[in-house]
Amino acid sequence: MTTTTTPTNFTSLGIISPLLARLTELEYQLPTPIQARVIPSILAQRDLIAGANTGSGKTAAFALPLLQQIHTEKQLTSKNTQGNYVTGLILVPTRELAKQVADSIKSYALHFNGMIKTVAVFGGVSANTQMQALRGGTDILVATPGRLLDLISSNAIKLDRVKTLVLDEADRMLSLGFTDELSTLLALLPKKKQILLFSATFPEEVQTLTQELLHNPVEIQLQSADASTLVQRVFTVNRGNKTALLAHLIKQHQWRQALIFVNSKNSCNHLAEKLSKRGIAAEVFHGDKGQAARSRVLDAFKAGEIEVLIATDIAARGLDIEKLPVVINFDLPRSPSDYMHRIGRSGRAGEVGLALSLIDHDDFHHFNVIEKKNKICLEREQVVGFEVDDIIKDKFPAADKPMAKPEGSGKKKRKNKTLVNADIWLRNS
Ligand code: ADP
Ligand code: MG
Repeated sequence: MTTTTTPTNFTSLGIISPLLARLTELEYQLPTPIQARVIPSILAQRDLIAGANTGSGKTAAFALPLLQQIHTEKQLTSKNTQGNYVTGLILVPTRELAKQVADSIKSYALHFNGMIKTVAVFGGVSANTQMQALRGGTDILVATPGRLLDLISSNAIKLDRVKTLVLDEADRMLSLGFTDELSTLLALLPKKKQILLFSATFPEEVQTLTQELLHNPVEIQLQSADASTLVQRVFTVNRGNKTALLAHLIKQHQWRQALIFVNSKNSCNHLAEKLSKRGIAAEVFHGDKGQAARSRVLDAFKAGEIEVLIATDIAARGLDIEKLPVVINFDLPRSPSDYMHRIGRSGRAGEVGLALSLIDHDDFHHFNVIEKKNKICLEREQVVGFEVDDIIKDKFPAADKPMAKPEGSGKKKRKNKTLVNADIWLRNS
């Protein structure tokens, strides 16, 4: 039997020097576990399904080998981009993620001195500017499906020379919301191509789809609660008392920043108004805002200029907000996968993070489902001053007695409810 030693640095993974130099500048000292595992398979042209925790460096895991492949190929053939073709196509679910991924790729490619062209295309902004950017083709295109289809129909770009297709947030891209767009796009791609799927979650529903799509894929799943630097907590609160509790937590803990998730555009605005009445300034981020406003708000949040941001699930996937201290589920997400993605905006790149979910009676059952699907098991807690009424307490079975073990949760048992003084346990966050 031969044993292989896992390469421990970017050099031993075979990464070429222009990229190595950039990684040094970016202070990427070592590859993350998912990077170490997938880079060799991607460079070996294999199809791949890669699952790894939020914030574990999946972007560089596909971007570095993709850049390297394209650069090496271009050097060999000394060809420039031609016509309206694209070589590496990356599909993502949201506009902001398209921009973020393209920016990361441009940054990694800095020492190729302009030899690799990367373009991002997404809706909500002028298609003309994007058409101009695509003139003469591009090496790498990061796109949301809808705008990409528009650009294809106006002949701004052609997909028949794509060599590698990446689906970032792959389970989302393969979910119902994108079925039509994705199947139209897939039909336009050449038969022979490399396909790479990346996500923190691969729910059962998409697993059969992935098997149909990929050719003899390498599958690497590194999701692990142990690898997470994120603390999850859940508070029971009386119905109608969530806003007061939220305001209390924000004021008490003075987090440098907080990202709060709700389930609708209206709820974003509504909650912002209610917080404002309690003396807390908050901005909102949702799909009804114009793209200019969306970009401005997200950039300001990423730059630390906004302290409290209330968002819908358009902010749940992929966004990398440096050192975000806390994510709060004011409303629970409908899908258990989205819970993992939402909370994964905090605790990224090995930083500590905190995820709080506020649940009232109406949320109780759904939170059980979220736990079960995600194989987590959290203690129900209450905050001093916001104790659940006795009458309502009866409707919180877990608050009084241990619940049945969620699937796959090993020996862990849900502990009895505890009454916490939020000061104590949040002090460090
Ligand atoms: P994911 O897609 O897995 O959620 P990202 O690709 O957005 O995670 O990366 C999360 C953060 O980790 C980013 O800020 C990125 O710059 C940083 N990062 C990625 N790889 C490394 C590395 N090898 N060393 C240090 N930081 C890294
Ligand atoms: Mg990502």
